[in-house]
Amino acid sequence: MSSASLVGAPADTTLRLARYAWAFFPNTLIGLLVALVGLFTRSRYALRDGVLEVHGGASNWFLKIGIPGIGPMPAMTLGHVVIAVDQATLDRWRVHERVHVRQFEAWGPLMLPAMLASALCQSIQGRDPYYDNLFEREAYAVEGSPYEASTRPRRTNVADSATTVVPTVEQAA
Ligand SMILES: [Zn+2]
Repeated sequence: MSSASLVGAPADTTLRLARYAWAFFPNTLIGLLVALVGLFTRSRYALRDGVLEVHGGASNWFLKIGIPGIGPMPAMTLGHVVIAVDQATLDRWRVHERVHVRQFEAWGPLMLPAMLASALCQSIQGRDPYYDNLFEREAYAVEGSPYEASTRPRRTNVADSATTVVPTVEQAA
């Protein structure tokens, strides 16, 4: 073992803890509260790569509400918590949602306001608040499906989707 790794390990741990702490409020906290509600309604939980993955039960109610101005979501990341409607959805969106986890680690308490601000800016400019959102563009690019305007699935509009359990096109926050 080299001396560099002996020196590096505690610093890595400190950095990792700092990322969790920075992402915690209010993001991971909200995610944990949603997960907690699911405790009594048959939500399922798994800790994977340091991220709590939740699906099913009452946590799905939160997904029905989704994001203001965008609508319901099949999956959503809040800090180090990922919520999805079911296991297959968790598996489908894992790479995408991990990008959002890294974004929460970078932006911390500024992440949700920044994401909403980006959605608002895109809307004002006549673009899609979801697909043109800078945070979503990065997540789609990393997962290998960077939707351009000409190739996007049609989004369900917010008024229609308010009564839909899962959006009719594949999109996740
Ligand atoms: Zn996303």
